[in-house]
Amino acid sequence: MLDSVRERLTLWYTLVLAGVLVCLAAFTYFLYRHDAALRTDVDIAQLSDAFLTTFNAELSDEQGSGAAKNAAHEAMLEHRFRDTYFVLLDDTGKVLLSSLNLTNATNSRQHLVADFFSTGAFREFHAAALASGGLHTVRWHRDAFRGLVRPVSAGGQRYTLAVLQSLHSQNEMMEDIRDTFLWAIPVALLLASVGGYFLARKSLAPIAAMTAQARSMGASNLDRRLAIANERDELGQLAQTFNQLLERLEASFEQQRRFMADASHELRTPVAILRGEAEVTLSKAERPPEEYRQTLAILREESQRLAHIIEDLFTLARADAGQYPLTLNDSYLDELASAALLRARSLALAKNINLVPVIESDLPIRADEALLGRMLLNLLDNAIKYSPPGSTVTLTCKRDGNHYALSVSDNGPGIPAELQPRIFERFFRADKARSRAEGETGGAGLGLSIARWIAEAHQGQLLLARSNDSGTVFTAILPANPSI
Ligand code: ADP
Repeated sequence: MLDSVRERLTLWYTLVLAGVLVCLAAFTYFLYRHDAALRTDVDIAQLSDAFLTTFNAELSDEQGSGAAKNAAHEAMLEHRFRDTYFVLLDDTGKVLLSSLNLTNATNSRQHLVADFFSTGAFREFHAAALASGGLHTVRWHRDAFRGLVRPVSAGGQRYTLAVLQSLHSQNEMMEDIRDTFLWAIPVALLLASVGGYFLARKSLAPIAAMTAQARSMGASNLDRRLAIANERDELGQLAQTFNQLLERLEASFEQQRRFMADASHELRTPVAILRGEAEVTLSKAERPPEEYRQTLAILREESQRLAHIIEDLFTLARADAGQYPLTLNDSYLDELASAALLRARSLALAKNINLVPVIESDLPIRADEALLGRMLLNLLDNAIKYSPPGSTVTLTCKRDGNHYALSVSDNGPGIPAELQPRIFERFFRADKARSRAEGETGGAGLGLSIARWIAEAHQGQLLLARSNDSGTVFTAILPANPSI
């Protein structure tokens, strides 16, 4: 139960609204009651003032022992109000005159009021009101009276005036208000929760649509995108974010797919050569030993090439997954550069290429020596491979502030300008036929991708600084102290 956001939203909404309505109703009810009570007290005080004004005026016209009673009688006749009663008592507390006697009890409520005055209840009220300093409330069956007692003197005698107001109609009104709240709040809540439920359903409908759409997506149809109703609202932004994620996924799937296709294509050629050579050699029962040697040499060359491609592929796969561990050591770049030159010497000799070192001394660096060596060898290998025999390849290594600049330059034919932006792409070769024909390490188009990754793994960068028909320069900028 309540597994759906829609139901939970509706429930929370209804609960909060119920809390607010109940608090509001209670506040209104008590405020109104308090206000009515205050108003009653003010009314009673004003009524008693008005009554006494009339009483005193009447008293001045009266003479003798019954003067006070007569004046009170006149004042009571003049001040007849519904639910308001005046009572005159002598100094012993005996009721001399009550305005109730001026009217005949005709209905049950008037009888009830008459009972209040005829039983001891009024005396109790009188005593309690005197004790509390004037105002007092007393309950009488289903009714209640609020009253005030005041001392009055007339003709040298002391009397007490009691003014009582029945709270019957006030209580009835409060009951009406309470009853109204009791049915109005549930009805309001019901309407609000039904409305809230439909509102939540309508607001969340795009999420349901997005869920269904996302569920139907797979690797085969990553090109599909979620429909966006309003790209400025929260759901639109969610769908946009989801679409951007799909875009990145699609791009990375596509990259993986291309990588797999290119890799299998690259592997197919040496494997085909291996198989072809073996089949040709085995097609005759007997061959001269020289022919076997030739075939074995080709097999060795191709298998070395194959191993090289596989190793490069493996390096890139681990680099992509962030799983290639760097073994950082404090070493010297000038020594690493000299070692790389030494390893490239045999390749240069084979093409009669002059290797020139321009290396500053004392260049300390924190680096993975094997990886930096591999980067330098890839660059030197390319420079030798793509330069004409007898030309010069220069390795420059110098400090540049907190960085080192490592450059490999050659006098080769250069890379066509339109292909230069693509040379760091995996499997990209500017001249496929030529690089394939080159020596055993040539040709898969992975060397520069790996070299760039190595520079970046050391928080540096590898750039094609210049390439035209007078030669090519690759430059690696490396920080002396990478914070890896
Ligand atoms: P490859 O295994 O083909 O050498 P790389 O990634 O090392 O692959 O190089 C990609 C391509 O860039 C090469 O095929 C080549 O066409 C071009 N290239 C790289 N270095 C040079 C260079 N020094 N001179 C001319 N072309 C180069």
